[in-house]
Amino acid sequence: MATQRRRSSRAADTAVEPIGAGKSEAHGYEFGGPIGATVLTFGLPFVCYAFAFLCNDVSGCPAPSLLSPSKLFSSPTLSTQSGWEHGIEVLKREVGWPGLGGLLSVEAVLGTLAWYGWSLLLHVLLPAQEVEGTELATGGKLKYRFNSFTSALVTLFLCAAGTWALGPEFQLWTFINRHYVQILTTNILIAYFLTTFTYFRSFSVKRGNISHRELAAGGHSGNIIYDFFIGRELNPRVNIPYMGEVDIKAFMELRPGLLGWIVLNLAFMAKQYKSYGYVTDSMLIVNFVQALYVMDALYMESAILTTIDLTTDGFGFMLAFGDLAWVPFTYSLQTRYLAVHPVILGPVYAGAILVIGLAGYIIFRGANSQKNAFRTNPDDPSVAHLEYIQTASGSRLLTTGWWGQARHINYLGDWLLSWSYCLPTLLPGYRLANSILTPGSRLVTTDGMEGWAIPVTYFYLLYFAVLLVHRERRDEEKCRRKYGKDWAAYTKKVPYRIIPGLY
Ligand code: NDP
Repeated sequence: MATQRRRSSRAADTAVEPIGAGKSEAHGYEFGGPIGATVLTFGLPFVCYAFAFLCNDVSGCPAPSLLSPSKLFSSPTLSTQSGWEHGIEVLKREVGWPGLGGLLSVEAVLGTLAWYGWSLLLHVLLPAQEVEGTELATGGKLKYRFNSFTSALVTLFLCAAGTWALGPEFQLWTFINRHYVQILTTNILIAYFLTTFTYFRSFSVKRGNISHRELAAGGHSGNIIYDFFIGRELNPRVNIPYMGEVDIKAFMELRPGLLGWIVLNLAFMAKQYKSYGYVTDSMLIVNFVQALYVMDALYMESAILTTIDLTTDGFGFMLAFGDLAWVPFTYSLQTRYLAVHPVILGPVYAGAILVIGLAGYIIFRGANSQKNAFRTNPDDPSVAHLEYIQTASGSRLLTTGWWGQARHINYLGDWLLSWSYCLPTLLPGYRLANSILTPGSRLVTTDGMEGWAIPVTYFYLLYFAVLLVHRERRDEEKCRRKYGKDWAAYTKKVPYRIIPGLY
């Protein structure tokens, strides 16, 4: 099989005619064009570092001096330092700045590469389902190897065994908590590396190649930074010796980062237990709802084949960084916060938050499964009664059921779910002070800090709303272009975008 695949890609390389660059003209720029792409490509890593340092277990969340910036940046009396120099000095102390060299370490690089290697090994060795992707624009379908759910179960079983044997001292948890920033840096570097590799390699995509390599319709504008960000090649694949062919985008989308998010959460739960001797209900709730979300995505693995990420976007910095750094490190900010500041909710708050989360999950899963079932087999008894529009392109658009409520009702469910990630942190904010009674130990207090960490632990809620509204606009544009007047008829029948009766 591997030999056959290798032969295919050699044949692809010998073809000559490049795929036309005119395609992306019809698309225009997204994400603010080259300027937006530049800002995001070089700015997003700083956002991750800002969260990592400004909400910390050295001085507080946020670093307490940030609450009085005029004092922080004013020149101290009897000092030659300028206000700016003084402020930076204080901030460096408060955030535990390790120096530029301290952002990376050999241990973190090796540990992170071992994690990617482990994910790859499970991908190759565990039994898998072979599934065909959607029809490509150039014709034909790619085959995908899916076993990320069983891979996750194996990994989580080993985590459970390690925790059972060693408790919070299990080396995986202590390693993550000790090298958090360096692991973040390694993932950022891997994202830049993979984007650069796939960007340059995409220039070898030729028209008519038999391995179905093609460029993303909106990803070859000719502007280097824009294409680097959006992604030139739609489905870059590599042949790895003894492992066979790996689809880089599908692999990165579902494996190291998504499961990495859950592993980070577990490491923070272990940290809370190690520091306090108990695990709070808030920590359990966030771990539970986020694990439910991730395990659901892994269980429904083949559903990614029809997502915009797989069908439309190339593999550029947007997806590489999103999958490998943004998702695991910014989506786990709540558990990281709770590890240092344990919040006890009590049964009423905990119950209410769980109800919100589960309601979101029911809408999210119900809508996605309904569309999936309908698109796979419209005669399936669970969807056979639903009404639809038969479009000229051949596809059918549901107009009743979940998809009759709003054109992206699944986004509403997803967003509701995100409330249950953030609410368990209540009014967040803490500072750390040296204990007078027990020298050497640190006390966590909320004194004057309540609410100041909202930009950290509620960041996901706001960011996700922006992402979903933007994503809905992109999808709307795609469908309008694809379905023309059939889409207009659909939007007339289902006028709301995400929230029935409101938006
Ligand atoms: P969707 O699953 O929402 O699918 C949109 C596509 O469905 C459209 O392009 C169209 O494709 C088809 N479609 C639209 N209307 C109808 C209809 N009435 N009946 C049948 N088919 C229809 O796409 P996404 O990839 O955006 O989202 C997948 C899931 O992933 C969502 O639940 C989303 O919330 C989640 N997500 C989560 C993220 C996170 O970071 N947590 C990030 C992004 C997404 P076609 O051309 O085939 O007709």
